[in-house]
Amino acid sequence: MARVLLLMPSTSYRASDFLKAGARLGVEVVVGSNHRPILEQFSEGRTLMLHFDRLDESVTKIVEQAARRPLDGIVGVDEETLLLAARASAKLGLPHNSEHAVADSHNKHRLRQVLERTGLKTPWYKLIDAHDDLERLAEELDFPCVLKPLTLSASRGVIRADNPNAFTNAGHRIRKMLENSRFPTQLLVEQFIPGNEVALEGLLANGQLKVLSLFDKPDPLNGPFFEETLYVTPSRLADRTQHAVREECQLAARALGLHSGPVHAELRINNNGPWLIELGARTIGGLCSRSLCFTGQHTLEELVIRQVLGEPEQDYGPAVDASGVMMIPIPTAGRLRAIVGLDKARQVPGITDVVVTIPLGETLVPLPEGARYLGFIFCKAKRAQDVESALRQAHRQLAFVIE
Ligand code: ADP
Ligand code: CA
Repeated sequence: MARVLLLMPSTSYRASDFLKAGARLGVEVVVGSNHRPILEQFSEGRTLMLHFDRLDESVTKIVEQAARRPLDGIVGVDEETLLLAARASAKLGLPHNSEHAVADSHNKHRLRQVLERTGLKTPWYKLIDAHDDLERLAEELDFPCVLKPLTLSASRGVIRADNPNAFTNAGHRIRKMLENSRFPTQLLVEQFIPGNEVALEGLLANGQLKVLSLFDKPDPLNGPFFEETLYVTPSRLADRTQHAVREECQLAARALGLHSGPVHAELRINNNGPWLIELGARTIGGLCSRSLCFTGQHTLEELVIRQVLGEPEQDYGPAVDASGVMMIPIPTAGRLRAIVGLDKARQVPGITDVVVTIPLGETLVPLPEGARYLGFIFCKAKRAQDVESALRQAHRQLAFVIE
């Protein structure tokens, strides 16, 4: 039986889908995580307690474990475990991307540098520190611009500023966020790129990008905060635009030096074509991958595990006509007391599931500070426009009691 090590933080939304994938494939799964509770659900010998920020120590532990019971592949499930997955794989001679490539794609500033160096489209950008003299900096900038921390995800701390005053306020706000975290206080400031947004899920094999799915994001994302809502696939963009998106991602992956494994990319598209916002060597975040299904009824996680275990390349395509997900927006800050209308939302034709991921009684924190998803609505239908309207209709059935 093949053995795969899944590296995921205890806070991962991705845990159950990856574990399910391992079980469906008949693969033995070892979980490496940074917290006891998530590990306790597994039997002895199938868990590994790791500190993701102590790379060398964690690599040693993984190598020791592999010496007792050999591993056939390692998957860094979330952003914060990608580097460890790369380093441990290298040590064990397992397939992997280079650490350098993973680190460049994970860091928003380094990504911009790579794109610029390669001649790919990129907005003007500037690396600053949240402790810099923001008032003075604001005098030199063009507006609108976007401020963002270098390695956070899910749009945390990403703020648009239309003028010097908004810039200074945004900078102070992000500084406060970062000061209470383990993240550095550096920020990237870059030109605001107008346009529609898409997300691409793909698999790299020998450096070649196979697109598994291209999502439209039909709700405009114009800021000042960038809360994600709707993802609908297949894309309704013209074929040549979709082609250009794929090309841009392929070139960016090559420029970064990524050559295998999953890719999640986000781009904005305007009259000048697609502009890369993000390209991660990972799968889509949250529970969003549940909106996808591929040839052979495989999930995205199954495709990733199959590939890392050395399955010969295959042509996977979508196994449903159209599908999508809504990341349920957080309506306001406060304690979540009740959610009304869940059954009604589930009954909307096409809706396959509604999952709430913040327990009642807990506090909702909206963006830019918030780090958790309120929940997800999933839909399958004949056409993309039906998916979009069913998701909107389901969302309208829901009411949130927040104190
Ligand atoms: P994260 O990794 O936290 O998701 P991103 O860099 O992907 O951060 O930014 C989150 C969202 O903010 C993007 O999906 C996009 O909607 C918006 N955004 C980020 N940078 C820009 C930009 N330069 N111009 C316009 N919108 C942007
Ligand atoms: Ca993003």
